[in-house]
Amino acid sequence: SLEILDKFNDPGLCKELLACLRDELDEEIRFMEVCGTHTVSIFRSGLHSVLPKEVVHLSGPGCPVCVTHESEVNAFLDLAGKDGVIVATFGDLIKVPGDKGHCLKNAQADGARVEIIYSPFDALELARNNPDSTVVFLGVGFETTAPTIAATVLMAQQQGLENFKVLSFHKLVPPALDVLISDPETRIDGFILPGHVSTVIGIHPYDFIGEKYGKPSVVTGFDPVDILQALLMMVRASGQEHPAIQNQYVRGVSENGNPKAVEVMYQVFEESDALWRGIGMIPGSGLEFRAEFEKYDAKKVFDLNIGECPPLKGCKCGEVLKGKMTPEKCPLFGKACTPAKPVGPCMVSTEGSCAAYFKYKVD
Ligand code: SF4
Repeated sequence: SLEILDKFNDPGLCKELLACLRDELDEEIRFMEVCGTHTVSIFRSGLHSVLPKEVVHLSGPGCPVCVTHESEVNAFLDLAGKDGVIVATFGDLIKVPGDKGHCLKNAQADGARVEIIYSPFDALELARNNPDSTVVFLGVGFETTAPTIAATVLMAQQQGLENFKVLSFHKLVPPALDVLISDPETRIDGFILPGHVSTVIGIHPYDFIGEKYGKPSVVTGFDPVDILQALLMMVRASGQEHPAIQNQYVRGVSENGNPKAVEVMYQVFEESDALWRGIGMIPGSGLEFRAEFEKYDAKKVFDLNIGECPPLKGCKCGEVLKGKMTPEKCPLFGKACTPAKPVGPCMVSTEGSCAAYFKYKVD
C-alpha cells in the first residue's frame, strides 16, 4: 500500500494532470485553499510555480493560529497575568501577538506560568499535578481539534478535576467560507476544501457553496497528485449551475465524516459567534460551552471580556487571509517580518501563508 501512496507524489502523473488542466481550461479560474497543510504542500511541491497561469492560487485562512484574533490573544495574556493560573497551550500559539504586539512568550519571560503541551490530555495531567493552581487550556483549532478537546472536558468531569478549564476559541470552517466567497472584493471560483476538517464533518456542510453561489469545490488530499486532480475536477464542474461538492480524498474522508466525533463536540459545545483575525465577527463560526459544562469555561470563570480591538499595526495578515494580497506585497515581508522575527501570525505559524512564501521563496 505504500507504493500506492507514492503514486500521489508521482512526477509523471503530475505532468499528465497538468497537461489535462491546460487542455481543458478555457478561462481563468481562481481557487482558494483554506487549510495550512494544503498551503505548505502547494509551495513545497513547487505546484504554486508550475500551475498554468490561468489557474490563480489564493491562499486563504488556512491555520487556526493565523485566524486567532488579536483580542483572543489579549485574553490569553490577561489569563497568563492572573495569580494561580497555569496556561497550557500548544507551542505554535506562544509567539502569536495581540493588538499591542505582545505574545505569551513575553508573558512567560515576565514570570507567567505558560506550559507547552503536546496533547490536551497533558493539560489534565498538569491540573492533577498542580491542585493549588487552575490550569487553563487554550482551545484553538478547527473541527479537527474541537472533538478531542470536548473529550478532554468529559474526562475532567469523570475524574472530578475541578481545577481544569478551557478557553474555547475553536472555529468552524464552513461559515468562514461563506463570508470569503460572498466578499464582493475577492473573486473566488472554487475552494480546495480541507481534508482533515472534512474527515470529521464530512462533505455536506459545504453544500451551500454550490447551491447558493454556484461554485465548484472539492474535498482534497494533501499530495501534489491530489491537488492537481482536485483542480481538474473543479475545472470540469465549473459552469454547472449548482455543482455538488466533490470528494477527491475518498481514502481519508467519507461522505458523512465521523459522526461520533461531531456528537462529542456538540455534547460539550454549541455554536456561537466568533472573531477571526482580519475578518472580524462571523456569526455561528465558533464553539462555546453548553450551560451544563460552564464550570469548565475559562471565559465564564474568569469573566473575560473578548471584544473587538484594533488590528495589529503594520501587519497585513487580514488582507492575506482573505486572498486580497499576497504576502510579498506586505511592506514588512522579509524585512521587519521573517520566520525568525515574525510580526504577524501568518509568519509565526509554519503553516501560515507568509511563512510558506518566505521559506519557498516565491516571487
Ligand atoms: Fe503580517 Fe508579516 Fe505577513 Fe506582513 S509579512 S502580513 S507583517 S505576517
